[in-house]
Amino acid sequence: MQKIGIFDSGVETPEEIVMAAGFTPYRFFGDPTLQPDRANEHIPPTHCIWTRNLLEQAIKGLDENIVGIIGTHGCDRTNREFDIWIECLNLDFMFFLNSPRKRDNLALNFFINDLKELILRLEEGFNIEITPGKLKDAIITTNKIRKLLKEISDYRKKLVLKGSEFHELVKNAQYQDKNQVLKNLKKKSEELKSIAPFSEKNIKRILLTGSEIDDTEFIKYLESLGFHIVIDDLGVGTKYFWNLVDENSEPIEALAKYHLTKPINSIKYPSYERFNVLQKLAENYKVDGVINIAQKFCEPVLYDHPYLNKKFKELEIPYLFIELTYNRESYNQLSTRFSAFAEII
Ligand code: SF4
Repeated sequence: MQKIGIFDSGVETPEEIVMAAGFTPYRFFGDPTLQPDRANEHIPPTHCIWTRNLLEQAIKGLDENIVGIIGTHGCDRTNREFDIWIECLNLDFMFFLNSPRKRDNLALNFFINDLKELILRLEEGFNIEITPGKLKDAIITTNKIRKLLKEISDYRKKLVLKGSEFHELVKNAQYQDKNQVLKNLKKKSEELKSIAPFSEKNIKRILLTGSEIDDTEFIKYLESLGFHIVIDDLGVGTKYFWNLVDENSEPIEALAKYHLTKPINSIKYPSYERFNVLQKLAENYKVDGVINIAQKFCEPVLYDHPYLNKKFKELEIPYLFIELTYNRESYNQLSTRFSAFAEII
């Protein structure tokens, strides 16, 4: 099946529009085994390592079924770097979606207009029609996926499902065919009902947050140190499925509202609201500690850190901030800091 690639740091691209257009939404992920040598010819090496990694892959050649790309405004990296993608790639359909930073009525109307523009461009570019009926069908499918992911996510809290296994499921949901995803998740949800919890001994219950963390091997690395991710605040995580799209409203407006009311990420305004989300998760899931990971040169998460540090100190919830290099060899170099954190919680 043909796919539309999604370059998006904040999971704010309405996949339903892509599905209603007859394509599989295919979110791009980084590859930590890759050095961004070609991308560094276009972007200074002090820019976000994750987006440079994605550009590197794009320059080297994407999946041949990708017939177009949507870049969605996350932070200013995704914003400005999309111009470089346009220069480096030879695809007819390249659309930049302006997902607003604010979440008020003005922003909502702005976003609705941009979604309409995206629909128009897809219709013209591929000679198709995206009807309200097709959008509704797609919303019903993605809502089913969200409900299943939320249900499965809770098995992390019950110590039945590892955080790494769950991370993989969410990641798959963001680039595989949605009907296949639905089938796999239903099967997984049935399987989990009969699995006994693993031992709680020596396990540190963690809320994981930060930049885009898309390498499941990193979650496995945390698990090898005794951490168990009971809950997260990530794009490859709760931000992708926490709320549902209203199935009874006009679909474009419902999609815009969904994205402007879901758990806020560090790029959006007002950013202090992100702490409220984290506090609620930390308390509801009774975590032993919070780990906040910034990908190297991820400014939005670096800016958030001092405020989060102060607020979690006030709440007496142990908090660890780590700046991570997007490369697997570097994970082990952090073991002293992680082990010291494990000891205090
Ligand atoms: S990791 Fe940080 S700097 Fe990079 S795209 Fe995501 S939010 Fe932006």
